[in-house]
This record gives sequence, C-alpha cells and structure tokens, in this order.
Amino acid sequence: MPLSWDVEADVVVVGFGAAGVAAAVTAHDLGAKVIILEKAPEGQHGGNTSVAGQGYLNTSSVEPAVAYLKALCGPFAVPDAMTQAWAEEMCENNAWLAGLGGDPQEHQHPPVGIEFPDLPGADCVHKFHDGPTYGYSLTWKRFESLVLQRPIAVLYSSPGRQMIQHDVSKQILGVRAQQADRSIAVKARRAVVLTCGGFENNQEMIRNYLPGVPYCYTSGSPYNEGDGITMAMSVGADLWHMNNYAGPSMALKVPEVRTSFSMQALHFSKQMPGGMIVVGPDARRFTDEKFKTRHGKVPVNGRWLPLATPCPMFMIFDQTLFSAGPLYDKHPSHGWTQIIERYDWSADNRAELSKGWITVADTVATLAAKVGLDPQALEDSVARWNGHCDAGHDADFGRTLMLAPVARGPFYAVELSPSMLNTQGGPRRNEKAQIVRPDGSPIARLYSAGELGSIYSYLYQGTGNIGECLAFGRIAGRNAAAEQPWT
Ligand SMILES: Cc1cc2nc3c(=O)[nH]c(=O)nc-3n(C[C@H](O)[C@H](O)[C@H](O)COP(=O)(O)OP(=O)(O)OC[C@H]3O[C@@H](n4cnc5c(N)ncnc54)[C@H](O)[C@@H]3O)c2cc1C
Repeated sequence: MPLSWDVEADVVVVGFGAAGVAAAVTAHDLGAKVIILEKAPEGQHGGNTSVAGQGYLNTSSVEPAVAYLKALCGPFAVPDAMTQAWAEEMCENNAWLAGLGGDPQEHQHPPVGIEFPDLPGADCVHKFHDGPTYGYSLTWKRFESLVLQRPIAVLYSSPGRQMIQHDVSKQILGVRAQQADRSIAVKARRAVVLTCGGFENNQEMIRNYLPGVPYCYTSGSPYNEGDGITMAMSVGADLWHMNNYAGPSMALKVPEVRTSFSMQALHFSKQMPGGMIVVGPDARRFTDEKFKTRHGKVPVNGRWLPLATPCPMFMIFDQTLFSAGPLYDKHPSHGWTQIIERYDWSADNRAELSKGWITVADTVATLAAKVGLDPQALEDSVARWNGHCDAGHDADFGRTLMLAPVARGPFYAVELSPSMLNTQGGPRRNEKAQIVRPDGSPIARLYSAGELGSIYSYLYQGTGNIGECLAFGRIAGRNAAAEQPWT
C-alpha cells in the first residue's frame, strides 16, 4: 500500500485501444471518474486497433452467434456463460456505436468475409466499420474521439507496471505506473480494467507459449509486450488461450524497423510475374506459399493447425520477380509498418538490396552458400519446382498461383520470419469480464477486455477481435463502474 496516491479515479483503465475505449466510455457514462494509463507516447497510442483493418464484428442474432463461436472453439471449449455473453454483446456493437454518434457501415456482405462458412451459425457474421469510407485508422479515429470528447484523463507514456493489491483481502486497489524515471501510484476507488493488449513483442513469452515458433514478429503495435499478463499473474490470475494467435504468416523482419514487412509476392491475392519459392533451413519447400491461411491456420488431417514455419525460412526468387516492382507495398492501408513506421521502400528494390535485406548471386548454388543453405539441396528444390511449373501442377503442395519457374538469373533471397497480427492469450476472465484465479474465483476489482485474454481459443473469425473489444469492454466498464468504492 503506498503512503500516498499520486492520481486517483473510480476506474483506472490500462491501455488505450478499442477495449480501453469501450471500458472507459461505458464506465464514464455510468457516472464513474475514469483515468486511462497508456504506455505509448501520444500519437503512438491506439495499439493494434489503430493500425487494424478497421473492421469489427456485429453478429446478426444471438443463437447462431452462440453456435458459431462454439464451433470456432471446437475441441478447445470455453464456458457456456462466456459464449452466451459474447454472443449477446456482439449483437449490440452497432447499436452502441450508433448511440454514441457513430456511423456503422457494413463493408463485406455475407457470404464474403465469413472465414469458416461451413460451421454452424456462420451466417451470423456481419463486418462493419465506422463512417462512409472504409479506410486506414478511420474506425479507430471514431473510437478515440469518444474518449477525447469526454473528461477522461489519458496519461500517455505511462505504462502500468504492477497491480496494487490489498495484503489481506487481495482486492485490487490501484496500479503502479512508470512516468520516465518516476513511479506513480494510481488509486482505483472502484476497479482496474486491463486492456493493454497481447504479448506480440515479448519473445520470451512467444517461445514459452506459442506453438512451434522460436521467435515471431508482428505487424501490429510494438508496445504490446505482455505487460498485462505479468501484472495479472503476479496477483494470482489464471491464464488461458496462450497458445492461440492470429498467425503465423511469413514476413521480413529487420533490426532497423520495429515491425515486420509483408512481402507482396507471398500474398494470396497478389499475382506477380517471375518465379518464387520459400524454403526452410534444409533448403526444401514445406508449403503452398500462396495458400490463403485462416489467420495463420491451415488444414492438416481434418484439423486446422498453425502454418509450419521452419526457421530460418528464405524466399528464393529470380530476376523477373525482382524487376517486377517493389517487394513491399508501402501504401498505408493497415499495419504498424505501413501506417506508423512509414518505411520508404524503393520502387526497384535496390535500396533494400544494398542494405543487405535482399541477397543476390549469379547462380542458385552461390545464393545458397551466401545465405547458409546447402547448395545442392537448393538447386534440387529449384529444379523440382521448375519441373512442377513445366507440368502445370505442383505435385508437392498443390500451389496454383504464380506457377512460374525460378529461371532467370541472377537469383535472390529474402530471409523470412514468422509474423502475426496479434496474440489471443492472457488472464482468464469470466462472463462479467472479471479476471479469475485458477480455481475460477474472481480477483476482486480486477477486470479485463480485448485481446488480453481473448475468448478465441482455436479458430478466429476476422473482425472478431475488435468486436470482442467492444463487447467485453462494455461489460468490464459496466461492472467496474458498479463496484462500491473501497474508500
Ligand atoms: C495489421 C492488423 C490488422 C488487424 N485487423 C483487424 C480487423 O480488421 N478487425 C479485427 O477485429 N481485428 C483486427 N486485428 C486485431 C485487432 O486489431 C486487435 O486484436 C485489437 O485491436 C486489440 O485491441 P485491444 O484494445 O485489446 O488492444 P490494442 O488495440 O493493441 O491496445 C492496447 C493498448 O495498450 C497499450 N499498452 C500496452 N502495455 C501497456 C501498459 N503496460 N500500460 C499501459 N498501456 C499499455 C498499448 O500501447 C496499446 O495502446 C488486426 C491486427 C493487426 C496487427
């Protein structure tokens, strides 16, 4: 217990993304004084929400939504009470936003956008954004404005570091936050709501919890480092869904830039001239490089599993692809790299070649030697792929897109890393958005929402994350505001 408090409010919200907005606005509108603690400096707040594709899910009715979520969870079931709460609130997202002056617009009309159309209840999926234009950061701008137009104090560059918990009652009394080299004690008279995102940038958690990846990078906010998980664990929280994430994809990551670069040639919807394959450390292909994964999952023996990403991986390609235009699309549409980092990728890829992000060699064998692959094995892989192209059929992985030989030298390599949008795991919460202990009992006055301990345990429906942020953010905000002050 601190000797004195530096700041105080009824409800302290930790993290200013979509979940933080929904929790803060809801609690405020119910009469609570609210403070938001945000780790990033002003202008880099907003987390993954600010750089997302800007769609959120509004389900059409409760019953099919229950069925669809249950089917998405498959053998990784979540409690019925959670499914019910999710389904009921997900149907209210549009009404909530419209009630606050927003302008919900449907941007993908079913069946377009339904990620698993064969699952029961799938026709409940309706993807919305805010405003007449479906563009980068626009829905986020609306969410953000809901906070900024209210007397909700936002403390930027103020990461929450530690929960303040009563020794005996174990209830949460506040949060310690860092401001430059000063630690401040923030009192929460009613409750704390953790909405500080996932562990996309915490390589130790990634190694410990995500299946099959020794490292992984993100195209989302670099500020999401699993702080909420550490804080919640240290006051007794259980964890769930730590092994589930919206990934992996295969992307370029360089030390100079905080987030990953998506390679255009690997995108399922982008056709480029020239030959390209991806190989693992054994110089062999391991997948259909152009398969449209379901947020990183691919079908394996009747189940969906994360795409295998044997690291290091290399995209091997020829002069025709190198000359076909920039390997990376710098136009800002979504992702931290495009919207915030704004790296100015050269039109002819030559700047990135001279930085060493791309390796070139006259022959496939010398290229292999340069990047540390077995020359004979890579020559074999290229010859095999070129044979598939001649035959018009990829006999190994059934790839049908960009079926062109790696033929015209010189030859190029880009090292690829596993990349993701976001993690889903975190402290387990219940249908009231309370964070719970391993025995299921709630930690008094501690709530959460958003991708920090998301409900998604297995399969993921696109726009489901922001939809859930709004749904559980409101539940958390309502219940936090309804707590009796402890002093
Ligand atoms: C490129 C991309 C596209 C996506 N597209 C979509 C989409 O179209 N639809 C969809 O539903 N989902 C999408 N997602 C996923 C979705 O954006 C996120 O899951 C969702 O926005 C998470 O919201 P949140 O509020 O839980 O966390 P965030 O929006 O990530 O916000 C967390 C906030 O907490 C702050 N923070 C972190 N640690 C601390 C701390 N210790 N103290 C204080 N603050 C802290 C962060 O700086 C951040 O501002 C996308 C993700 C990415 C990366």
